[in-house]
Amino acid sequence: KKRMVSAITPSGTMTLGNYLGAVKHFIDFQDEYEMFIFVANLHAITIPQEKEKLRKNMKEIATLYFACGLDPHKSTIFVQSDVMAHAQLGWILNTQSTIGELSRMSQFKDKSKKAETTGKGYIPAGLFTYPTLMAADILLYDANFVPVGVDQKQHVELTRDLAERINNKYSDVFTIPEPLITENKIKIMDLQDPTKKMSKSSDNPKAIILMLDTPEMIKSKIKAALTDSEGIIKYDIVNKPGVSNLLTIYSICKNITIKEAVKNFENKNYGDLKNETAEAIIEIVSPIQEKFKKLYNSSDVEDWLNNGANKANLIANKKLNKVQNALGLNFNR
Ligand code: ATP
Ligand code: MG
Repeated sequence: KKRMVSAITPSGTMTLGNYLGAVKHFIDFQDEYEMFIFVANLHAITIPQEKEKLRKNMKEIATLYFACGLDPHKSTIFVQSDVMAHAQLGWILNTQSTIGELSRMSQFKDKSKKAETTGKGYIPAGLFTYPTLMAADILLYDANFVPVGVDQKQHVELTRDLAERINNKYSDVFTIPEPLITENKIKIMDLQDPTKKMSKSSDNPKAIILMLDTPEMIKSKIKAALTDSEGIIKYDIVNKPGVSNLLTIYSICKNITIKEAVKNFENKNYGDLKNETAEAIIEIVSPIQEKFKKLYNSSDVEDWLNNGANKANLIANKKLNKVQNALGLNFNR
């Protein structure tokens, strides 16, 4: 079986965007691929986090993984910091990458700009070296594919460059991964500014739908979503980003095409679009929330994560040792 690695950063709790753009695909992939899915807590601390909040976000994301349908018997699901090799290989990769190439990462440019304005100029060095840790996440498991949104493609390309560099300079230790951009490039947009991506770390709670939002919250957020004054329901990302985003959400939740979605709203108004979209979301999240409630206070999640970490540690430590050998870091070999 081919391998895949992916993760969600607990810099907030899971959004509808994370689910529709990532987790939903993981569920579909888990029979065909050997999946390694983790809660990326070491990535989360690249921006300042409050301890209790971080812990809560980690627990919610992990529990949601299982509530959404990830099967601990099929996939390896764990918490990143439980597998020390991530940080260890991340350090080694830091020494093999350059300031120049890391400076070109657009995520760093965006996030450091945000940190500069909201964090009063406080830009953690980890924000800059984040891509080398992500490269370690992928290379430790010889992943063939990395299912990511378009926003992460550049990081996978850097991972390939680093792997090739080390393979050529030392010895063939790494599998070269390929980005697997989710089919039809699903990208859920911010409800208040539909020209930008819906992000869990957004400072505007009204702009994002969370997987644990109540039906009332979902209805009110969708009702307040920014549209336009044209009053015509059609799909046009450039001129009608808000309406198009609702159509995207509706069509994925209903498992129909955009064309079919547009047809459904013939002779209907924005109020109908919003009501039906909210209902479609609620239909998707309700059963997940039911399972979440059952799992959240059981010991199952912790057991599954421990088993996942054990499995991941076996594979990751072996790879780390190979890399250390290749670089001459092991005293005897
Ligand atoms: P942050 O704001 O902290 O970066 P995020 O919402 O972008 O949070 P990530 O943890 O960076 O979430 O990404 C987890 C996965 O979800 C990735 O595969 C990413 O491509 C995907 N993803 C994130 N946001 C969206 C979105 N709005 N639409 C579709 N996929 C998304
Ligand atoms: Mg992100």
